[in-house]
Amino acid sequence: MQTLQVDLGERSYPIYIGEDLLSKAEYIVPHLAGRQVAVVTNETVAPLYLDKLTSALSSRNVTPIVLPDGEAFKQWETLQTIFDALLKARHDRRTTLIALGGGVIGDMAGFAAACYQRGVDFIQIPTTLLSQVDSSVGGKTGINHPLGKNMIGAFYQPKAVVIDTSTLATLPARELSAGLAEVIKYGLICDEPFLTWLEAHMDALRALEGSALSEAIARSCAAKARVVGADERETGVRATLNLGHTFGHAIETHMGYGVWLHGEAVAAGTVMALEMSRRLGWIDEAERDRGIRLLQRAGLPVTPPAEMTPEDFLEHMAIDKKVLDGRLRLVLLKRLGEAVVTGDFPRETLHATLAADYR
Ligand code: NAD
Ligand code: MG
Repeated sequence: MQTLQVDLGERSYPIYIGEDLLSKAEYIVPHLAGRQVAVVTNETVAPLYLDKLTSALSSRNVTPIVLPDGEAFKQWETLQTIFDALLKARHDRRTTLIALGGGVIGDMAGFAAACYQRGVDFIQIPTTLLSQVDSSVGGKTGINHPLGKNMIGAFYQPKAVVIDTSTLATLPARELSAGLAEVIKYGLICDEPFLTWLEAHMDALRALEGSALSEAIARSCAAKARVVGADERETGVRATLNLGHTFGHAIETHMGYGVWLHGEAVAAGTVMALEMSRRLGWIDEAERDRGIRLLQRAGLPVTPPAEMTPEDFLEHMAIDKKVLDGRLRLVLLKRLGEAVVTGDFPRETLHATLAADYR
């Protein structure tokens, strides 16, 4: 078991990482203010892990709230069903919401906690690799709007994050790889030695070896916690966490949400960011290929969709959140292990990157 601390003054909280933590009350119960607890989960995760968690919480009154599964349900009506369940079971301001599931559940339960009676406690128990290394840490919560993804939400920090690596045993391999894209991202943006470690342990990670998983998750969470601690509300360095995401979002949008998993689009987008950094003379060919090889070994796509033209990319990238004052800003690599957010590059280099042959 490893414990990390996210340092945000009075909003600081621990992250526990290890095997079988779900069934261990000692990591969860001390963070509960009152007797009431609502576990927010979905129809896929509930049959796998809800009983285990409920047993660990046997000293409390637990209201299970089981939502339909999928990004399509990350919206108002689903939020309303959470509030309905809380009010019907008469949860008061001392209740705690526990998110048991992937990033969709974590984002929604966190936002529900931020809103319910003007804010109640919540705990994250993320069960996908992506949510364990990314969405459960940092306090971004929210839902989608028909006009934009994650457009309605709040910064709201959990009281604790409990990461049970054993839950990954039931995760589809494709979802595991998608999470690995974000893990590799941390190495690329701020931790070069972690890249070397990943090169040595990629097979162990894909084979779900507990100690390798714990180590990779801990180093990823530590990287995210560092960046978030320095810039909680994303006015600066936090944007480096979006390496590969501007190109990746263009792929996700163009292909239709869900066709490419987020991590898959980020992987191909990261290859494009590596290529652009090489064209700017910041990294060399061998460094670019080192990044590509690692993504490939994680089971991820390393070429953008053949059907996408440079114009397709530009069209989708122009509406990216990171566009400030009309100037496109991208996360690029000064070297492996050091990212910058910059709008300071020749237009032609971007065009050449979009037109490059990745096959
Ligand atoms: P997800 O929550 O949809 O989970 C993927 C699938 O795996 C779902 O079908 C889910 O039911 C299933 N699942 C979850 N745990 C399982 C397990 N242990 N075994 C078997 N199946 C399991 O997707 P995700 O990739 O975890 O999260 C994506 C969401 O996270 C998006 O909505 C995205 O916007 C959000 N996100 C938020 C942040 C943030 O900072 N808040 C960061 C990144 C992503
Ligand atoms: Mg991401």
